[in-house]
Amino acid sequence: MALTANCPVCRASLQLTHHGSFDSWVCPAGHGLAATLSELYGRAQQDEIHQLWQLAEQAPVGERRCPMCERAMATVTAPFDADELDEGTPGDGAATGEVPVDVCVADEVIWFDTAELDALPADLPDPQPTAEQEAALAAAIDNFGDDYEAAVEADPDLADRVLQRLGHSSRAFRLLAPRQPQH
Ligand SMILES: [Zn+2]
Ligand SMILES: [Zn+2]
Repeated sequence: MALTANCPVCRASLQLTHHGSFDSWVCPAGHGLAATLSELYGRAQQDEIHQLWQLAEQAPVGERRCPMCERAMATVTAPFDADELDEGTPGDGAATGEVPVDVCVADEVIWFDTAELDALPADLPDPQPTAEQEAALAAAIDNFGDDYEAAVEADPDLADRVLQRLGHSSRAFRLLAPRQPQH
């Protein structure tokens, strides 16, 4: 893993962020985050990862550049559905949509884009952030860009909340996120 990484959208230096035992690189301007395949293997079911990786190896190269090596990444559309049951298990519904992610197969890095994920339907069963948290996060993302250091000093949990927001937006991203206890 490279010591530095840059946002594929704005080229800002990504901030290495620890969320529980999950490490990811988060754009200071809130564009999204990068995570490695090795992190993914610790979080997700292997068949789902294999499916994602097979898609990546066959996918066309897009315009985004890898945060680590700057090669163009493969654009993969990962299907998601309305439930949270594993694919193929009883009660698992048909895929209702798909979310684009960008993958560097060479570095085994996956980029999740916040703006794209925001277009997806809300994730229903998980606990949602409070209105106050959402408002604070939205304001932080709107206002960031220039002054990440000062903002992080004032709000050290911001990167965690970006991560949580991504996790609430996408089944694909939940492959990466620490498994929540089921209620
Ligand atoms: Zn960015
Ligand atoms: Zn790369």
